[in-house]
Amino acid sequence: MSYDLVIRGGTLVTATGRYAADIAIDGEQIAAIVAPGTPLEASRVIDATGRHVLPGAIDVHSHHREPGFTHKEDIVTATSACAAGGVTTSFAMPNVAPPPNTVERLDAMIDLYNQRAIVDWNINAAGTVPDQIAEMSTRGICAFKVFMVVDSGRDYPHMPGIGVHDHGKLLEIFEAIAPTGLALMVHPHDQELMTHIEQGFWAKGERDAQAYAKAYSAMDGIIWDTAAALLLRLQQSTGTRLHLLHTQTVGVLQQIRAAKAAGQPVTAELNPWAVFLGNDWSNIVRWGPYALSYYVPEKNTEPLWEALADGTIDLISTDHAPHTREEKEPGWTDCWKAHTGTPSTQFYVPMFLDAALAGRLTLERVVDLIATAPAEAFGLARKGRLEVGADADIAIVNLDAEMEIRDDIVIGKIGWTPYAGKRVRGVVETTLVRGGIVYADGRVVGNPGWGRQARPDGAWKAAGTVAPASAG
Ligand SMILES: [Zn+2]
Repeated sequence: MSYDLVIRGGTLVTATGRYAADIAIDGEQIAAIVAPGTPLEASRVIDATGRHVLPGAIDVHSHHREPGFTHKEDIVTATSACAAGGVTTSFAMPNVAPPPNTVERLDAMIDLYNQRAIVDWNINAAGTVPDQIAEMSTRGICAFKVFMVVDSGRDYPHMPGIGVHDHGKLLEIFEAIAPTGLALMVHPHDQELMTHIEQGFWAKGERDAQAYAKAYSAMDGIIWDTAAALLLRLQQSTGTRLHLLHTQTVGVLQQIRAAKAAGQPVTAELNPWAVFLGNDWSNIVRWGPYALSYYVPEKNTEPLWEALADGTIDLISTDHAPHTREEKEPGWTDCWKAHTGTPSTQFYVPMFLDAALAGRLTLERVVDLIATAPAEAFGLARKGRLEVGADADIAIVNLDAEMEIRDDIVIGKIGWTPYAGKRVRGVVETTLVRGGIVYADGRVVGNPGWGRQARPDGAWKAAGTVAPASAG
């Protein structure tokens, strides 16, 4: 037979190993994986000699900003950056306007994505309206999202309608999601403690980016640790699958280890800013609001890398959060009025490949963290792997090439990246989504509408390698 596309000469990297092989693609799926040089007829051949062939990254946490905030980013620009960054599936977060917290709004957002996405996608629906949850769960989504934070002093990015910090209301949401079998993603945050802590800073007249950084990381991350404790306890009582966002403190790592040892169905993610940006106080001083997301005190860095290696943290997703310079600038003097979050979808795969080349993690573990584990955690049986029958979602990378991350190569509307000036080894050269080339030769060549909803079609599986405690 003749295949549609053959990728020749590359080294395949999976979550468990690497080997030289050629890949044949028929339609949207991987049809054969054969020894290098095996004669295969194909309409098109990609020469991957000297390159590594990875399953495309699956980012389950990305802020695409559409509908409602398209001056920052939109579905086309966000999924273009995904294509350029080797990301073949991207899950949208619900802090858009209107937020997808009802069936009608979710359906409207799904329509938008069907028309506009370049890579595959899903939408993490806002789980804030319990009586909508059962029907929303029938729309092919993988997860619901709740922010425990409700902003004080600004109405974005954590606006009312998507934030819940009342514990009873949270319990009600856990109970409503449990029977759906879907995951609940939560941004852990203790609003009552935060209110006290931030008022302490404000009373001293401290409102700048450094004060903001210190407030959110105060007392060894008390607002993160206490929130995670509550969420894990709610999980235990309701059985709802919990995905913890923004893992960044030693205290939360300890809790995740204990929960996994007890067999709780919990997954956790790390965002690139926690190990490449916010974990260096000098970045907070130099970049101010542009470095926040959050300050992650330096003593957490090594434990976080260890947790990535040993499976305590299951997966890496971006928390890609683009804001304009105009929205960041006020943060130099009053960071509570600036929009928090940092963009990263275009560059996080190269940054983690670079970390692998520097010996931080194995290349296989990076592939697991960015592709295979997120697919397993959210039931995407045909994604995140290089196997016959899997979707041909592929990133071809050059690990010998080096690139400098710069503002002028940012794809999107904001024109800046907090990683500007960073040199990384590991360049994404070609990205395929279900067999279609969406990025090649330095250009996004995919078309809006090619991306399809990545519906859960497999059993959920905790990816952690921490063994459950055994009796005796
Ligand atoms: Zn986020």
